[in-house]
Formats: sequence, C-alpha cells, structure tokens
Amino acid sequence: MTESEKSKTELKDFELEIARCIHCKACTIADAANPKGGFEVGCPSWSAMEWEAYSGGAKLWLARAILDGNYKLDTDAGDLLFRCSTCGQCEEQCENELPTVDIIEAMRAEAVKAGVGPLDKQIGYSKATEIKRNPYNEEHASRTAWVPKEFKLKDKAEVIYFVGCTASYRLQELAVSTMRVMDKLGADVTVKEDEWCCCSPLIRVGKLDLVKDYVKHNVELFQNAGAKVVVSSCAGCFRTMKRDWPKYYGLLPFEVKHSVNYIAELLESGKAKLNPLKGIKATYHDPCHYGRHVAHLIKDRKEKAEWFEVPRKILRILLGDNFVEMPRTKENAWCCGAGGGARAQFPDWTLDTSIERIKEAEETGATHLVSACPFCETSLQLAIEKSESKLKMVDLIQFVEDALE
Ligand code: SF4
Ligand code: SF4
Repeated sequence: MTESEKSKTELKDFELEIARCIHCKACTIADAANPKGGFEVGCPSWSAMEWEAYSGGAKLWLARAILDGNYKLDTDAGDLLFRCSTCGQCEEQCENELPTVDIIEAMRAEAVKAGVGPLDKQIGYSKATEIKRNPYNEEHASRTAWVPKEFKLKDKAEVIYFVGCTASYRLQELAVSTMRVMDKLGADVTVKEDEWCCCSPLIRVGKLDLVKDYVKHNVELFQNAGAKVVVSSCAGCFRTMKRDWPKYYGLLPFEVKHSVNYIAELLESGKAKLNPLKGIKATYHDPCHYGRHVAHLIKDRKEKAEWFEVPRKILRILLGDNFVEMPRTKENAWCCGAGGGARAQFPDWTLDTSIERIKEAEETGATHLVSACPFCETSLQLAIEKSESKLKMVDLIQFVEDALE
C-alpha cells in the first residue's frame, strides 16, 4: 500500500483513479491478461445479474457520476452498490490497477451518509456490533466460552490470537484447533477476552462511525498485553487488520499474520514437522480476503505469486500429489459470495455463488475442500448441504492439527 492509499477512505479521495477507468470490461472476467483468453466469468455480481451495471468498471462510472453530481444516491442505488461481495476480482484483473474495492467501499460510505445504506438486512448486524461488539448479536461475555479448560488465558503474551467473531461464536472448533496448534508449536500465546469485532462487516458496507474507536480499543488491548505478533485464523479479520486498521490508527505497534503464514514460517525454520495425511484428496479455495485483498498490497510480481503459494506449500507437504487445483485459482479464484455484507442481504445469491464453487471443487475429484477463513467455510458448508455434495469442508489449520508430530 502506498502512503496515499493508507489514508484514503472518502470517495473524493479517489477522483483521479475513478477518471482513469477506460471501460474495457476486463474486470468482469478471470485471468483477463491471459493471451489465450481468460475465464468467461470472474465477477459474481455481473455474472448473476447479466447486466453490465453490476460490474466493477460500471461501479467506477457510477462513482464518477456521483462525484460530478449527475447521479443522486437514492434507494434505487442500493442494489447496484451493495449486490457485490467486494471479492476483488475486478481489482485484480484491471490492467489500469484501479483500486475498485476501496472505491466501492467509499461509495457505500457515501450511500450511508445519504441514508441509503446499510441495506435492511445489514442494519441488524451493524446494530448488534455496536451493542454487543459482534455482528452475531451474541453476549460479549461469552466470547471466549470456546476456550478449552487446558488453556489458562494470560494477561500478557508475545503472540495474541485474534479469534474474530465467526470463530468465537459460530465455528468454535476452528478456534480450538488454532489454539492447540499454536500451543503445540511452543508459542507464548493468549487470547484477550475483551477482543471486539475487527469491524470488517462494518467497513465493507460503508458504515464507518464506530470503526476508529473499535480499532483503537483492539490495538491498545493487544499492545498493553505485550503483543509482538497478532495472529488471525480468519481471512476477513486478517485483511482488515492489515489493510484497514492502519487507515484508522496509523502504524500498528505489532506485526499481523494469518495463522497459515505463522505456521508456514515455523515449518520453514524446522520448528514444526508434519506427517502426511492418508486417504485424502483435497483442493483449496483461496479466500478473497487472504488472497487477492492482501496480495493487492504486494507490488513485486514474484513476491505476489509467492503469497498465493504459502497455503499450497503446506498442502503439498500434507498431501503430495493428492493436492489438486481448481481451474479458477489463486488471484483468479471464484468467490464464495459471502463477503461485503452480501450473505446477510442476499442469501440466495450468496448460496448460488457458493454452489458454483462447490461444483468447481467437485470436478477435481477431491474428497475435501480446504480453506483458511471461517466465513468462507460456513457459506461453502451450506452450499455443500444444499447441493447434496459429498465434499468435506475443512480449515487448513485442522489438517495441520491432525498432521503435527
Ligand atoms: S475498472 Fe479497470 S478493468 Fe474495469 S473497465 Fe475500468 S479500466 Fe477496465
Ligand atoms: S468486487 Fe467482485 S463482485 Fe464486486 S464488482 Fe468487483 S468482481 Fe464483481
């Protein structure tokens, strides 16, 4: 991220970028730069609505019209602006390197100011986040109810595990596995009971009034606990800490890592050894927030390619040739459809998008679908059930737990 990108949150901050969209529509497909031709579809919103207005590029033209005073934000704008999972496919495919996701989010913030957003189903989780510190409307006091008895939470530790709302309240087995793996690897790790939502669900829909206070609370909580590293097992929290928190806080006083990276480093240093897993053939779903969204910060092409390899290196150790790829993968991955407030507001569209991913995974012949984001996993799991697929959904950390010597 450049210095100027770090502080941009308002639509007018992106005036120059918005003017640079040349309406080429490359942002609608995946692997657009491939001279042999890319994939037919990459943007889930454009694909489902079959109308160009839903593409990333068209949203930039809408942004231009809003800035020029030629488009009034009213309720008609709601569907165009919010039926988008902010998957970042458009941002990745744009040869003009236009930050479409940041612009879409800034446009949503304008919609919130105009009283158009968040949309009706997104209001509930926004209010819950304000009152209960989590979008699931669960009691804040029970946030760490998942912590197994064998772990005594400490006041101070070098590594803080930022659990996130989804693993705290909905996918608690992921939180348990992450804690067990980190403990087994000898990390001086703890969880803070007063952790608040990372604010991803709010930022993605342009509801920004709470964000600064929540970010400050979390940063200071971890800083006072002596954190050198904050590790997240959720791609959404990870993206938000990495790409959004510095906009609201400035330079963070600790490093931020996804659990996949944390473990990959320990494996490389020889501190951890994994046994191969038998009888499993798996494919990997790149979460948009771990993949494209964080890769956007990496300007060097080789480093960017290596970023997408991190989870794959672990999968190759675990599975060898039984790790197989889907056609749309890495920077071209098809989204699960849940991000950007879409799952709350458009559950049917999210489900269709997830089912398309499940079908793509099934075609590889895999028995397991692996990912690294509890939010993707709950959406893909629902799609597995609804489509009566035999695939088993797992988080990479759960494979690692099974394989640790
Ligand atoms: S956002 Fe980029 S890829 Fe999409 S139409 Fe504009 S210039 Fe082309
Ligand atoms: S962020 Fe994803 S869903 Fe939204 S316009 Fe871009 S490609 Fe389409």
